[in-house]
Amino acid sequence: MAGAAVIIDGSALAESLKQDVRKRVAALGRPVHLAAVLVGATPAGEMYAQRQADACRNVGIDYELRKLPADVTQEQLKQEIHRLNADPSVTGIMMHLPLPQGLDATRMQHEIDVIKDVEGVNPANIGYVVYGHTIIAPCTALSVIELIKSTQREIRGAEAVVVGASEIAGKPIALLLAEQMATVTLCHVATRDLKLHTRRAEILVVAVGKPGLIDADSVRDGAVVVDVGINRITLADGSKKTVGDVDFDSVKAKASHITPVPGGVGPMTVAMLLRNTLRSAELLAAHQR
Ligand code: NAP
Repeated sequence: MAGAAVIIDGSALAESLKQDVRKRVAALGRPVHLAAVLVGATPAGEMYAQRQADACRNVGIDYELRKLPADVTQEQLKQEIHRLNADPSVTGIMMHLPLPQGLDATRMQHEIDVIKDVEGVNPANIGYVVYGHTIIAPCTALSVIELIKSTQREIRGAEAVVVGASEIAGKPIALLLAEQMATVTLCHVATRDLKLHTRRAEILVVAVGKPGLIDADSVRDGAVVVDVGINRITLADGSKKTVGDVDFDSVKAKASHITPVPGGVGPMTVAMLLRNTLRSAELLAAHQR
């Protein structure tokens, strides 16, 4: 089996998803308009927003960047979100993170209209997933599910282990896997013996932010391995490289399928944001809003 893993091409999958979104945006017959709120713009934040604007434009989605100064108050930010909630020309809303110190991101996410919440970060949207009435689910978790489905591996009944339990990644991923009827174990900092769990995973998802956390010895033969981690490391020669949490070279010799970093979950998450943005617009159209 050495070197046998199929490398899951997240970029190709994202491309076909975007093509589908492009067709459905054109077929909707009304504008799809994403408003992105950026508080206290930094060069990194501006660059990310520019990439997002390009991705939207490529599929026919209008993108509007609402820049607010770093010293905006919680009340002013809340009012801006409410204004976007009430604006019928705005079909989707997202808020760039991190927010400057002193602003409570979770409370602000709570203010975003449940249907316009294209990132699926309003706690109500997580709640709807739990109750089996999903409106909009978080983008990264949706990406992970799509990547696993692309392998044709059955999720129902599979032993799935998720490493990392953040609100943005690990917990929603575990929730969506449970929704697909996997038997799910969620590992976190308090997990006593991480390998004990990862070694029995038929589906292993790692979302921690620690390069090399998962090596071949931690992986079951023939597992599907999805690496959500994004880490910038410095090599011996001083050059920089982006890697995940999984030791790709050793694990690919043991897994049946593995996502690369970059080129796995990352591009899919962008595509999922576009698909969620379309979904919000479709739901609003169905509700005549
Ligand atoms: P985070 O908020 O720092 O959460 C990391 C989680 O891992 C926390 O639950 C943490 O527990 C847990 N953890 C830390 N060390 C651990 C260990 N040794 N064993 C098991 N669990 C451990 O990070 P995040 O936002 O979830 O992101 C995780 C990684 O995914 C990062 O590299 C990030 O860049 C990447 N990411 C990628 C995408 C994408 O689209 N590709 C999207 C989101 C995130 P504690 O909180 O208790 O310390």
